[in-house]
Amino acid sequence: MTTIMTDVLVIGAGLAGERTAVEAAAHGNQVIILSLVPPRRSHSVAAQGGMQAALGNMARSAGDSPDVHFEDTVKGADWGCEQDVARLFVNLAPVAIRQMAHWGVPWSRVVPGPKRLPSGEIVEESAEKEGLIAARNFGGTKKWRACFCSDGTGHSLLYTMDNVALQLGVQVHDRTEALALIHDGSRCYGAIVRDLRNGELRTYLARATVIATGGYGRIYGQSTNAVINDGTGMALALETGVVPLGNMEAVQFHPTGVVPGDILVTEGCRGDGGYLLDKDEHRFMPDYEPEKKELASRDVVSRRMIHHVRQGHGVESAYGPHLWLDIRHLGQEHIETYLRDVADICRDFLGIDPVHQPIPVRPTQHYSMGGVRTDIGGRAYGLAGLYAAGEAACWDLHGFNRLGGNSVAETVVMGMVVGRSVAQDLVGSDFSFPDAPVRSAKAQVEQRLPALTTYGLEYVWALRQQMSAILMEKVGVFRNGRELVTAVEELQELQERAERLGLRSTGRGPNPELSAALRLPGMIRLAITIAYGALQRTESRGSHYREDYPARDDALWLRRTLATWPAEADLPRLSYEPVKITELPPGERGYGETREAAKKEGARG
Ligand SMILES: Cc1cc2nc3c(=O)[nH]c(=O)nc-3n(C[C@H](O)[C@H](O)[C@H](O)COP(=O)(O)OP(=O)(O)OC[C@H]3O[C@@H](n4cnc5c(N)ncnc54)[C@H](O)[C@@H]3O)c2cc1C
Repeated sequence: MTTIMTDVLVIGAGLAGERTAVEAAAHGNQVIILSLVPPRRSHSVAAQGGMQAALGNMARSAGDSPDVHFEDTVKGADWGCEQDVARLFVNLAPVAIRQMAHWGVPWSRVVPGPKRLPSGEIVEESAEKEGLIAARNFGGTKKWRACFCSDGTGHSLLYTMDNVALQLGVQVHDRTEALALIHDGSRCYGAIVRDLRNGELRTYLARATVIATGGYGRIYGQSTNAVINDGTGMALALETGVVPLGNMEAVQFHPTGVVPGDILVTEGCRGDGGYLLDKDEHRFMPDYEPEKKELASRDVVSRRMIHHVRQGHGVESAYGPHLWLDIRHLGQEHIETYLRDVADICRDFLGIDPVHQPIPVRPTQHYSMGGVRTDIGGRAYGLAGLYAAGEAACWDLHGFNRLGGNSVAETVVMGMVVGRSVAQDLVGSDFSFPDAPVRSAKAQVEQRLPALTTYGLEYVWALRQQMSAILMEKVGVFRNGRELVTAVEELQELQERAERLGLRSTGRGPNPELSAALRLPGMIRLAITIAYGALQRTESRGSHYREDYPARDDALWLRRTLATWPAEADLPRLSYEPVKITELPPGERGYGETREAAKKEGARG
């Protein structure tokens, strides 16, 4: 097996991985990035609507500041986030956005007024300064703060970041997959990696290893995530038995995945003035949330939509009931300028024109707030020399609900922070690479491969589909104890069956069935960790909504779930740590829904 040595190994070439690599390389380290696909095809490229940073350039963002951004983030998180992390993040986001402009990102900029807003309001010419970075409205925020490049924000950011990485001499080994971390229970030494083109296994030895593998959306049946978002990095961390995953039960559903297909249409549609309509073309959100309407937090809007459909107001279709997203009134010019990706998605994948027709939508799995638990510097708990960044990490900026636009911002801010931690930790660090952990990681991978090539009984795609269906049906937007117990049992059964996988194909190189078979046991473990954590958490907070415990319970649950999975255990081991409250004590989130839940809980006694 070939061995490759480097200072820093970054697993993942999305925005978080590349930004971390750039920072570490800028401090003089040799950096290698691994990626399943060429970097520019990472899921970050699909980010549409924007990146939150308190610049206050627009008339509608006057008075914005990191303090207001902080408050929005903590309330959005339903007080589940680390407040020192949120503070660091809101202070650095304006720096990061200007740095990205300096590197070449073509932010949409303020155009001269007077201008008619989608709401019909006229913005004064004098209120906005021409040429400054513009912002649009997003859910759960007090000010217009989501900076954007039309609706191709992630595309512009990732292409720019990739250029900077190339300029700094960062090496990218794409079409490779990390299959196991090399560690001795206290330090991480790199990873065992499979070349997806020819099946060759390689050892990467690194003084620092960063997990930046993005989200796990694809373990759910309906997800806005790219097909490569299988959560492999989180699964690798869990497999060590010592690195905990934080808050895995916190899973975000986005209100507007299109039907069918579940491709996202950005929150920017509602930010720019789009409405949600039911089968009678009635705009129903103001009935539930008179103040924030369609721009309540994503968890709130998703629940209101599903509730409304359950009341019989959904539009029946061959793909199940859905609602409408209506942007027709924004007009052709606005749609073709600021929502052109949305227009393309509707035309190419649905065969409809959003200038003249409403868009069929439903809540769809979108984002993982949980991930590899790290400290404020991005150092993973449990193993020295291991770090995590971006969606794969639980830093924990988002608590139980991430605000739209805070994730892209997190990737670049956290990448900067983690890259610096890596560089700092490597100064003067001196250790040799012991043989035993390398041998044991190799053996762990090598023994999985031949088992799969014999004709086992179980078919990987069938098991994968069952796993996704269980999660969608029983661990979705609404949860309850009875269904969660069943979900855990059914997933455990699948886990046992996944030990008897057999391949129908023989290719050792670019073989999707083999890749899926290698990933499936880890994906099922993640699914169990989500369901089991959700079962134990007997309260509702942000995206985690228990019908049998509809109110938030700060006395018992102002705590973060930490899940490790010791070897040979049937279930993850859960422990809890307090959430850090440094500035804003728990209070009302300001939604009608929260008040209704408190009333129901009171009535239950
Ligand atoms: C459709 C869509 C639209 C979005 N829009 C917005 C938005 O407007 N604003 C916002 O703030 N957020 C948005 N988000 C969320 C945000 O884009 C993501 O959370 C963020 O970009 C994730 O970046 P990342 O670098 O952590 O991971 P990713 O960009 O997902 O990158 C993961 C990388 O890891 C690699 N990888 C994975 N496993 C392995 C392995 N085992 N070995 C080697 N490499 C591996 C992949 O190849 C990839 O390069 C959106 C998300 C989606 C799905």
